[in-house]
Amino acid sequence: MNITNGLVASFHYTLKNPAGEVLDSSEGNEPLAYLHGAHNIVPGLEAELEGKTVGDKISAVVTPEGGYGVKHDGLIQEVPRSAFGDQPVEPGMRFNAETDQGPRMVVITAVTDDTVTVDGNHPLAGETLHFDVEITDVREATPQEAEHGHVHAGGHDH
Ligand code: ZN
Repeated sequence: MNITNGLVASFHYTLKNPAGEVLDSSEGNEPLAYLHGAHNIVPGLEAELEGKTVGDKISAVVTPEGGYGVKHDGLIQEVPRSAFGDQPVEPGMRFNAETDQGPRMVVITAVTDDTVTVDGNHPLAGETLHFDVEITDVREATPQEAEHGHVHAGGHDH
């Protein structure tokens, strides 16, 4: 069975940046299962997996446009330190913030006495992604999975 829209595929993966550093991996975990054509995974990788089958190993280089998007300067904002009240703020802290585009995960990138810089870009925005993938399973989606647009496995619950 070859991967095409409406099928559920599972794969092991290692994700590296262009410097060869491992950013994420399924090693030691269950393979990642996704519903092909439902945008469960980044579009650049989904396109590379089209037509592949169990046992296929691929290396895919995914541009930021096909991955987590380019970095938008507009998502980097400087806010008054006072907006955080007495809360401790340090670079690297993550929290949900209300933005013009709705709730969004942001990370604090800089702190001064008066200001805090927060970045709402995805942590992998602007990165070229190097995926090594091995496909471990391809199957029909259940009617419910097809209706929901995602896979029911690995503790997914309603
Ligand atoms: Zn569901």
